[in-house]
Amino acid sequence: MAVFETEALILRSYNLAEADKIVVCLSRSAGLIRGVAKGCRKLKNRFGAALEPFTFINLTYYQKENQELVSFRQVEILKSRFNLSSNASILTGFAYMGDLLIDFSPPHQANDNLFRMALACFEAASETPADLEAVLRYFEVWLLKLEGFLPDLRVCAKCQKGFSGDEAVYLDPDLSIRCLQCSNGRGGGVSNRLRLHLRTAEKLSPAKFAEEARAVSKDTKREMAELTFQIIGRVLERMPRVRPAS
Ligand SMILES: [Zn+2]
Repeated sequence: MAVFETEALILRSYNLAEADKIVVCLSRSAGLIRGVAKGCRKLKNRFGAALEPFTFINLTYYQKENQELVSFRQVEILKSRFNLSSNASILTGFAYMGDLLIDFSPPHQANDNLFRMALACFEAASETPADLEAVLRYFEVWLLKLEGFLPDLRVCAKCQKGFSGDEAVYLDPDLSIRCLQCSNGRGGGVSNRLRLHLRTAEKLSPAKFAEEARAVSKDTKREMAELTFQIIGRVLERMPRVRPAS
């Protein structure tokens, strides 16, 4: 049995038997991990409040060879979200990001960029809860980008022509972006202002993007939400769902 240590974000937990929990977290060095925390629901336990959802922790765990479920040995809080525990919209937003991370991350595959992006999004929304919506859009854009599902916004996927400023472009049902001619009238339009907003998300940190988004029109924000929802929905339809057994 090997012992590992890594930074991790707690995403979800389930009760198991009388005193234990199954905890799902995204770790820096091992990607998505599911682990058993023995005795963590007893009044006095070595985990304390460290296993509350969305806590940023330093985790030590055991893993048996060829076993997906690990065993939590020690957890140290690096950043608690206790101060946000009464903010319902933040908790809903965090749960949404957590669910997407679980859906998109294959177990035990480290993805440092994804880990850093997710951590920065949780941090940005914790710092400025009023920016939650913008942070969620940023998170969606980057999740799609890092997992290879965000279409190229600069050139037509079919004829490779670069898009000019005001050109009408379309999201094809195959999730590529095409010019008017190549789209053959298929797919939904993607406006120039939305393309600019998406490019901003690709360039900035979540906190900076959220700041810039305050000056962006409601229509553009709605358009962005519709686009990311649409792509995420289609990607999840064709991805094998990885769900815990419980
Ligand atoms: Zn084209």
